[in-house]
Amino acid sequence: MDFEHSAKAQDYIKRAAAFIAEEVEPIEEAYHRELQAQPDRWVVLPIIEELKAKARAAGLWNLFRPVAHGGELTNVEYAPIAELTGRSLIAPEIFNCNAPDTGNMEVLLKYGTPEQQEQWLTPLLAGEIRSAFGMTEPGVASSDAANMAATAVLDGDTVLINGRKWWTTGIGHPNCKVIIFMGLTFPDSDNRHGKHTMVLVPTDAPGVKIERMLTTMGYADEPYGHGEVSFDNVRVPASNILVGPGRAFEIAQGRLGPGRIHHCMRLIGLAEKALELGIKRATSRSAFGKPLINLGGNRERVADARIAINQARLLVLNAAWLLDTKGPFGALSAVSEIKVVAPRMALSVIDLAIQLHGGAGMSDDFPLAAAWVGARTLRLADGPDEVHQGVVARLELAKYKEKNA
Ligand SMILES: Cc1cc2nc3c(=O)[nH]c(=O)nc-3n(C[C@H](O)[C@H](O)[C@H](O)COP(=O)(O)OP(=O)(O)OC[C@H]3O[C@@H](n4cnc5c(N)ncnc54)[C@H](O)[C@@H]3O)c2cc1C
Repeated sequence: MDFEHSAKAQDYIKRAAAFIAEEVEPIEEAYHRELQAQPDRWVVLPIIEELKAKARAAGLWNLFRPVAHGGELTNVEYAPIAELTGRSLIAPEIFNCNAPDTGNMEVLLKYGTPEQQEQWLTPLLAGEIRSAFGMTEPGVASSDAANMAATAVLDGDTVLINGRKWWTTGIGHPNCKVIIFMGLTFPDSDNRHGKHTMVLVPTDAPGVKIERMLTTMGYADEPYGHGEVSFDNVRVPASNILVGPGRAFEIAQGRLGPGRIHHCMRLIGLAEKALELGIKRATSRSAFGKPLINLGGNRERVADARIAINQARLLVLNAAWLLDTKGPFGALSAVSEIKVVAPRMALSVIDLAIQLHGGAGMSDDFPLAAAWVGARTLRLADGPDEVHQGVVARLELAKYKEKNA
């Protein structure tokens, strides 16, 4: 077993690390302050477009793109880059590697027709437009994707769409132009995984309405945000269907494997950043005659955080390697395992960093409170912990069934 990154990956790591340290991290605090000061926060500040252009010119662009679909890096090679971008809330977008666009681009790369790719994928890969993924609904328990009740009804050479989605991430972005919408097409089918269809719905189609933007524990995550969106007799051409009617589950499986692991890679970077901030703070302030870091069990807590981050990183890399070598189905348990482990690990490390900061850790003077909320949402987004534990348990127990057969 070789734990060394490939020469190609090492080159990208060096360049990405330098770019983030020199171009992104120094402006991040001022960026967030400036955005919060805008009368309308659902805007793209010029610095973002400037940095996107620089990252693109430096070859640090679309690095998530799978090798099988014209990309440069395997998942194992991409993992340390995604980890680095996870240190910052804006770096993923600057590298055109942010959720939910990467998952949506992967769908279009894997399943889009040449016409769909030309219309939506080309501008997404260029960072000119943004996209959203509309599966979850307020009216049904959406951890079971078979529950989705919004409809996508075939009507001649069109599809008629009705219903309501929420937690549609990215819908608030001024450049969000398309939603991958999951709707019920064959309610009477016996196949619970053959009832739904995925359709590309332009955000400016008549009948699409953002009812409200949601917040996560007070954070609106502008300019992307998470919206509740209604669809009232929205009609799009049948050529906007992805793969075919009733085939949404096939696509969901293909989309969420890599998308989930990218979140986990970024969480490792977020935890690294939090630990770094915590140690800097606790070594620079003293109480009771000692630096904070030497009080109580703080050194042991730091050691536990380091151990937890390293454990999670190895698990992420293992899942990435399985995705590269055995595909999404061969990596099914590993991806679900890491989807449970990474947010919990990040939450515990960020919590330690907040504690080491004292009251300051809860304020927006430091990025820790926002980081904690971001990590907390990932125990729900892309499937709650329990659904992933269910996958791990099912695969584990299947081994025993085979033995007893
Ligand atoms: C910040 C954020 C961003 C999101 N972005 C998107 C997006 O872009 N697009 C999108 O479509 N969705 C998005 N989601 C939605 C997310 O995927 C759903 O919230 C999630 O799938 C759970 O669905 P639900 O909220 O309907 O919870 P429910 O299905 O009502 O489940 C509630 C709880 O029930 C428990 N539960 C569920 N299943 C099981 C089980 N099998 N065993 C034991 N307990 C179980 C879990 O504790 C779960 O949290 C986002 C969510 C958040 C918070």
